[in-house]
Amino acid sequence: MGQRKPIVAGNWKMNGSLELIKEIAAVSAQIEEQQCEVLVFPPAVLLSEAISAGLKCGTQTVSEFDAGAYTGEIQASLVKSLGANYTLVGHSERRSIYGESNEDVANKFAQAQQSGLTPILCIGETQEQRTDGKTEEVVKQQLESVIEKLGIASLVNSVIAYEPVWAIGTGLTATPEQAQATHKYIRDLLRSYDEQVADALRILYGGSVNESNSELLFAQADIDGGLIGGASLKPESFSAICESA
Ligand code: PGA
Repeated sequence: MGQRKPIVAGNWKMNGSLELIKEIAAVSAQIEEQQCEVLVFPPAVLLSEAISAGLKCGTQTVSEFDAGAYTGEIQASLVKSLGANYTLVGHSERRSIYGESNEDVANKFAQAQQSGLTPILCIGETQEQRTDGKTEEVVKQQLESVIEKLGIASLVNSVIAYEPVWAIGTGLTATPEQAQATHKYIRDLLRSYDEQVADALRILYGGSVNESNSELLFAQADIDGGLIGGASLKPESFSAICESA
C-alpha cells in the first residue's frame, strides 16, 4: 500500500438502524486513526445520527443539481453542512437500478467536489463484460468520463472504488490476483495522465469482502482498502476487516 493510508468504508445500502450506529461507532472508536480511515455510508436519513455518534460519514449518492425542485434528492452542500465529508458516486446499484450513465456520474462527482465533499467514484464491469474480455475497456470509460469533464487534477481530491459487479453481494470475490491486476491497470492508466496523482490516489476494492478474504486483498500493492457492503452490517466482521487493513 506504500504511503497511502488505507480506507475501510461500510456501505450500508438501504439497511441499518439506530442500534447499528451505536455498535459500529464502538468498532470505529477502537481503530487507530493512524492505521486506517474508517468511513460509514448509512442511509441518508440516518446521517445526522451517525455523525453525532462520532462516525466519519458520507452519503451513498448525491444529486447532480445544486438546489431546487428535485423532490427526494440529496443535496451535496447540505450533506457537507451536517459534517459529512464523503459521498459515493456511481455505485453499480445506482447505475443498474436507477439508470445513472457515466455522464450522470461525472456530474455528481463535480457537484460533490463543488460542495466540499470527497467523491468515492465506483467503477467495475459486469460478468458479461468480463467474459467478453472488456474489463479494462469498461473501467477506462468510467474513469475517463470524469477526467474528460473535470480534468485529471479533479482526482486529487477523490477516491476510486473498483467493484466488479459480479462480485457485489454474490459471495464471489475477485481473487487477490484478479483484483490487483485491475487496480494496477487503473493506476497505470492514471499514471499516463499524471504520475503524482496516480501514486497518491487511493483505490479501494469492493465486492463480497469479508473477514476471511480482506487481509490478502488489502496486502496487494495497488489495493488501498475496501468498500464493504454486507459484512459492514455485522460489527464483528467489520471490526476484523478494519483490523486487517
Ligand atoms: P458487498 O457489497 O460487500 O455486499 O458485496 C459491496 C458494495 O456494494 O459496495
